[in-house]
Amino acid sequence: MVQILRLVDSVRKCLFVIGTALLLFVAARNSITWHLQRFWGASGDFWQQKWEDIYELCGRDAFFLGVFGTTVFSLLVFWLSNAFLMFLDVTGKPAVLLRYKIQPNKNMPLSKDQLWQAVRQVLINQTLVGIPFTVCVYRLLMWRGCSVLPQDLPTFHWAVMELIIFTLVEEVFFYYSHRLMHHPCLYKHVHKMHHEWTAPIGIVSIYAHPIEHCISNLLPPAMGPLLLGSHLATSWLFFALALMSTTVAHCGYHFPFLPSPEAHDYHHLKFNQNYGFLGVLDRLHGTDNAFRASKAYERHFLLLGLTPVSQQFPDTLSKKKSE
Ligand SMILES: [Zn+2]
Ligand SMILES: [Zn+2]
Repeated sequence: MVQILRLVDSVRKCLFVIGTALLLFVAARNSITWHLQRFWGASGDFWQQKWEDIYELCGRDAFFLGVFGTTVFSLLVFWLSNAFLMFLDVTGKPAVLLRYKIQPNKNMPLSKDQLWQAVRQVLINQTLVGIPFTVCVYRLLMWRGCSVLPQDLPTFHWAVMELIIFTLVEEVFFYYSHRLMHHPCLYKHVHKMHHEWTAPIGIVSIYAHPIEHCISNLLPPAMGPLLLGSHLATSWLFFALALMSTTVAHCGYHFPFLPSPEAHDYHHLKFNQNYGFLGVLDRLHGTDNAFRASKAYERHFLLLGLTPVSQQFPDTLSKKKSE
């Protein structure tokens, strides 16, 4: 009975998350296109033209675009998303944002040695691990019949459908591979590195042992495009969304108007809760029970005002003692 209730709750949560993400994506896409057309007179095939330009820039070479294009694109998305967060963590400025910290006194000040160690491992993962992995995935995508050609771009509606499926596929592969990483043997030799940060920062999202980076970070987002045989452009879009969402999940701040990072921050604090990123499979398997009874769960929502969640739901003394 409990299992059925959890399943129903899990499906409801899934529909809610996907529905919200879909609405936001469609609204953002429509508004960006509208503004571009309004102010720069871009034509309706603006996105097609952008992909044509990228293809041209890569010398119309599918391998170069698939491997080096994907690597450079991912590097840009990751480091641009993290540049501001790193500045905030290192300088503590702008100070007004520090009130959004989830674990207020952690990383204050941030250890430069620990930060440098994380940056070094992230760069190793993105290059020495990431490039050979991307070559393998590129070969598989070509074998699967995926296209990189501008004339094969999917329609907007099919691309949205693909993004929804990719998200669900990633949740399945990430949840189970992450739970596997918590098996004592693998945890000790592999996953422990990622958990050195009990209060994570943005770049910790891919601070991991190379084995974990392949299995839990790179494989889950690549599985959707491989299963569906998707266009490379849709895969890039999904990789960008996945990189930005994992950065937010690890950033250590519950900022207004961004997805709540409380669940994964709690995972870093408590280790055995919230293995997934949507929360759907955690609900199903009951691996979020302690989280749901915590103060962090009360704060786990999309903040739509400027008052920090920690002020709206402050720690009580008795709660502090019990946690
Ligand atoms: Zn993490
Ligand atoms: Zn973990």
